Amino acid sequence: MDVLGLYRKTGALLEGHFLLRSGLHSPLFLQSAALLQHPLYAEAVGEALGRLFEEEGVDFVVGPALGGVVLSFVVARALGARALFAEKTPSGEMTLRKGLTVNPGDRFLAVEDVVTTGESVRKAIRAAEERGGVLVGVGTIVDRSGGKVAFGVPFKALARLEVPQYPPEACPLCRAGLPLEEV
Ligand SMILES: [Zn+2]
Repeated sequence: MDVLGLYRKTGALLEGHFLLRSGLHSPLFLQSAALLQHPLYAEAVGEALGRLFEEEGVDFVVGPALGGVVLSFVVARALGARALFAEKTPSGEMTLRKGLTVNPGDRFLAVEDVVTTGESVRKAIRAAEERGGVLVGVGTIVDRSGGKVAFGVPFKALARLEVPQYPPEACPLCRAGLPLEEV
């Protein structure tokens, strides 16, 4: 599956000068919502990502809201599993809404559209583990971590993307005077 082609086709791959959530600057940003708003593409992505974990006996899939909600749903559908999502708490951690069931020992897959630092998917993992779930894998559409993140379970991606990221003080785009866009 040509995932990056899908990002391009749906206008989800933006080029310019972006302030990432991590505080770093980058010439490229992946706006997965622009891709996942198309149910047929979302479904295709979910099937492809789910296929990578079909041997894991997944009971539920969890993703960090909001970005991870649709992805969790389509991957869970492909795996015949339940689709959960974790929401931010006022303290900046994540929690699972009460109506979302986790049975003790449930095997779960954590998903996030794009993994850069893995920070938000880790919070979703903690939320599911607190409720008794057992993490068996982490899946992402695009891994742009440069191989720098690990979760202690299989971590699989549909695509890997090496994109330069700069601290503001060392950003050549800043030096060139390009307007910075917050994402
Ligand atoms: Zn910059």
